[in-house]
Amino acid sequence: MDSASGAGGSIPIGGGGGEASSSQPGGSGSAEGGSASSSAPPSRYESQKRRDWNTFLQYLKNHKPPLSLSRCSGAHVIEFLKYLDQFGKTKVHITGCPYFGHPNPPAPCACPLKQAWGSLDALIGRLRAAYEENDGRPESNPFGAKAVRIYLREVREGQAKARGIPYEKKKRKRPSTDAAGEGGSRSRSGGGGDETGGGGSVGAPAISTV
Ligand SMILES: [Zn+2]
Repeated sequence: MDSASGAGGSIPIGGGGGEASSSQPGGSGSAEGGSASSSAPPSRYESQKRRDWNTFLQYLKNHKPPLSLSRCSGAHVIEFLKYLDQFGKTKVHITGCPYFGHPNPPAPCACPLKQAWGSLDALIGRLRAAYEENDGRPESNPFGAKAVRIYLREVREGQAKARGIPYEKKKRKRPSTDAAGEGGSRSRSGGGGDETGGGGSVGAPAISTV
């Protein structure tokens, strides 16, 4: 627990390293100092999107072997999502757990914490938009890859079973890129609240929340 939240913004990928001093997103002047936006702060969605995007770029940077954005595929995106699970706060029961399928288990268990499906879904929506805003071509957008959609669906179905929470309220349709973000995290459950901490945030690892 010594170095966990210590110095600054680098993502602890691969168990350390990467003391990049300039990795603080939005910290160093360049970003949002713009002209018009000083009075009206960026929307929550916008700032979350920027943070997510920085997290992802940081992830690519620390990736072994190194990955450039242009070579990033849906498979890499899925890898990224799995990587984020270690920072998750949502209990997902394994099939052998007595509370498998219980939305409100009466006692703790040892099942792993993961990212809630709704968080991942919203995250992908934001990253997908961010990719194109950063000059990525829509047709090569790895966040829109079919494999990613399939993966998310599997996560949703798996978590619905494991947590006893049906996500059926949301009809399976894909809104446009922009809407996918916010819509995703809101529409579900209404019961829990534990997983998103009230923001649809993925609780991205080392991005400081100042
Ligand atoms: Zn369990």
